[in-house]
Amino acid sequence: MDQTLRINEVFFSIQGESTRMGLPCVFVRLAGCHLRCAYCDTEYAFKEGTTRSIDDLVAEVSDFPCDLVEITGGEPLLQERAHGLMSRLCDLGKTVLVETSGACDIGACDERVVRIVDVKTPGSGELARMDWSNMDRLRPCDEVKFVVTVRADYEWAKEKIAEYGLVERVGAVLVSPVFEQPAGLEIVGARGLSMRDLAAWILADGLNVRLQPQLHKFIWDPQTRGV
Ligand code: SF4
Repeated sequence: MDQTLRINEVFFSIQGESTRMGLPCVFVRLAGCHLRCAYCDTEYAFKEGTTRSIDDLVAEVSDFPCDLVEITGGEPLLQERAHGLMSRLCDLGKTVLVETSGACDIGACDERVVRIVDVKTPGSGELARMDWSNMDRLRPCDEVKFVVTVRADYEWAKEKIAEYGLVERVGAVLVSPVFEQPAGLEIVGARGLSMRDLAAWILADGLNVRLQPQLHKFIWDPQTRGV
């Protein structure tokens, strides 16, 4: 019998983050997450999902006119079979990105997969869940993201970037101001941070990181799903 995954949604949109920001991209959002970040904007993926075969998913992804695919969540690496899906997509010549919380071992990913690790800042409320051994597994093609909620998060991120030599070791260090997020059933929500303030802090420190918005939230309504 074909292997299956719990899938929240599959959609074709503009990549809103990472160094591929602005490019058309197919997204496969896996259901489930063991974290409850204060600012999570995909709370609906915690439990909503359908069981889909990997064959079916590969066929659906292949139908889009696009060779860039992001596997996201929720936390995609909670489902071990996600590795099988990613390898199948790599075999087809797709550029496969996985966006992961940093709380799961990234070492099991196919070596062709680009890992984008969201390092949980103190403001996320989930710092204690970070698997710091992932920092040793990063390669030059991978990317690391920090979502900054307040100045203290920025100062903390700056220390971690230096401690792990991230600017020198990965393809990009992405720093994002948190977007305002209303409280939900399982998350506390977050106040937004000004992109201009974050830009000023980065420039004052001469920090060699990439400031990134969540582009899709400027194109569409921030609460829109499937974009
Ligand atoms: S890791 Fe955090 S932000 Fe990502 S899906 Fe889970 S709760 Fe949401």
